[in-house]
Amino acid sequence: MCENEEGTHFHSHYPSFEACVAFHGHACPGLATGYRVATAAMRTLGVARPYDEELVCVAETDACGVDAIQVVTGCTAGKGNLVIHDYGKHVFSFFSRDQDRAIRVRVCQSDMPERSGMDELRRKVFSGTASKEEEAKFRSLMQAATAHILSVPENALLRIRDIPAHPPKKARIFATVTCARCGEPVADAKTRVVDGSRVCIPCAEARSQEGERRTE
Ligand SMILES: [Zn+2]
Ligand SMILES: [Zn+2]
Repeated sequence: MCENEEGTHFHSHYPSFEACVAFHGHACPGLATGYRVATAAMRTLGVARPYDEELVCVAETDACGVDAIQVVTGCTAGKGNLVIHDYGKHVFSFFSRDQDRAIRVRVCQSDMPERSGMDELRRKVFSGTASKEEEAKFRSLMQAATAHILSVPENALLRIRDIPAHPPKKARIFATVTCARCGEPVADAKTRVVDGSRVCIPCAEARSQEGERRTE
């Protein structure tokens, strides 16, 4: 397995890849990539798993890898220290409040063997047109790609650089109000004003669709 400069197994400090698989539901290259990103970031920043919001992650994708980030780093959607801006990029920024340091981790497309064949098979498998043999081939290619990502040298997979350490604002506790339309409690900051009253976002969207229909 991977070793850091001191020659210790850095994986041992963190939840295992298997723990990420249990959380995510399957092993896949995306999850493996997220695992490498998460462990590299923790090691680079020298932080332990946070219990609150000392570590903040900004993910520029909402794909599989985000689940490994949550398991390993403790940056979770629920705690508010995982911010997802889905720009469709495999880039993750980590801000350590304790260390007053931030890094940006970019995933390089590593030279995956048979990459093009995998994309073609993926299309068939997900459109339900793959034969049994093609499905089995796809699964074994996915397995190989996952193993490859877990074992490839870090500098062949990731580019890590320091960035200014300005984390996004801490998650705030919002006042709760009642939506004027559906009557459900909703965080004040997430409401919209429609026809002079505060409503939740689904109600505001429903209202604007009604408006569109009327003008059609
Ligand atoms: Zn996945
Ligand atoms: Zn509502």
